[in-house]
Amino acid sequence: MKKPILTQISVNEHLYSVPDAPEKLNLLDLDREALEAWFVELGEKAFHARQVLKWIHKHQVTDFDAMTDIGKSLRAKLQDIAYVRMPEIAVEQASEDGTRKWLMELECGNRIETVFIPDGYRGTLCVSSQVGCALDCTFCSTARQGFNRNLSVAEIIGQVWVAKREISPERPLTNIVMMGMGEPLANLENVVAAMGIMMDDLAYELSKRRVTLSTAGIVPALDRLKALSDVSLAVSLHAPDDELRDQLVPLNRKYPIRELMAACRRYVAGDRRKVTFEYVMLDGVNDSDRHARQLVKLLQGIPAKVNLIPFNPFPTTRFKRSSAQRIEAFQAILMRAGLITITRRTRGDDIDAACGQLVGRVTDRSRRHLRSAKRDLRNLETAAVNKVELEKNRL
Ligand code: SAH
Repeated sequence: MKKPILTQISVNEHLYSVPDAPEKLNLLDLDREALEAWFVELGEKAFHARQVLKWIHKHQVTDFDAMTDIGKSLRAKLQDIAYVRMPEIAVEQASEDGTRKWLMELECGNRIETVFIPDGYRGTLCVSSQVGCALDCTFCSTARQGFNRNLSVAEIIGQVWVAKREISPERPLTNIVMMGMGEPLANLENVVAAMGIMMDDLAYELSKRRVTLSTAGIVPALDRLKALSDVSLAVSLHAPDDELRDQLVPLNRKYPIRELMAACRRYVAGDRRKVTFEYVMLDGVNDSDRHARQLVKLLQGIPAKVNLIPFNPFPTTRFKRSSAQRIEAFQAILMRAGLITITRRTRGDDIDAACGQLVGRVTDRSRRHLRSAKRDLRNLETAAVNKVELEKNRL
């Protein structure tokens, strides 16, 4: 068996093995259409794309020699010009509740996180789309890491490939949510291609209802998504008015709520599906009865479901999770108004795998972590001053 020759290279003081011929193509980067075009370009028949796709994703075979329904000479040719490589697991953690988190190492030395959440018959995989995130949502720990780059198709679908290998067939993967690190609509083309492979009959066979993209609301990209794909949509709303949302999700200053709602309506027009609106429950910030009533008004006329997410804390954050009673009262107002509302169960928080806790290892190129560090320092200072004041009052 001929193996690609590997060379060691050094990036950021880490050593990586890469295939010797940089012009070799990682076939994990190609969806069915791209793979067909590639075979045709090679002067081969397009149907080989179907065979290769099935071997790689369905049977998890990455060695061309084992792809027995492909002729010997083509197999040898593939060996010379292509390879199949996925991210490597650097660390695996398992939660008491069955949630599993993998820290995956990319060729560039950055690390991203992928989470598997088994729940009854369901097995949901939470997949990352970028190394870090360029949006600066104030309550999210991924934002603190700064931003490095978009993930390639191979790195996105590679997370699914690795998870499928790791999880037991008795509790299979049934749903995928693009809710890991990053903003998927900021990496639209690669995310669309990877989601195509998730839904391909020759690969992971998931229906469009079981693949969900979550976005903070990049309006023009949302319209492009509709043209390119028909996955289910989740929108990180978190506030019922612009003033508050500007603070929590700074992207709102560019694409305010009214424009975002119009784009959501366009996305589900002509479809029976609903948009899921995610709403993180932050104690004393966005969780009052008034906010709930405002939210009801805002979502009137939009085919909507609401997903309340109890805030997951991380070190240095100034936010607190709303109490269970507050969340219940908030949910009751929405339900009374006829909105399907679910409170997301917190999963995997003992291994920092819950929503907003994914940090990976990001070589920040945006200087965001410096700004975040300054903000953290300000918060700590304010907390310290408050504590001193409190002590003084007590004396
Ligand atoms: N950038 C995309 C994908 C991230 S999905 C988006 O914004 O939708 C992750 C979800 O978890 C988002 O709804 C995000 O707002 C939410 N989230 C982020 N930090 C959180 C935290 N600390 N606690 C609970 N939810 C959080």
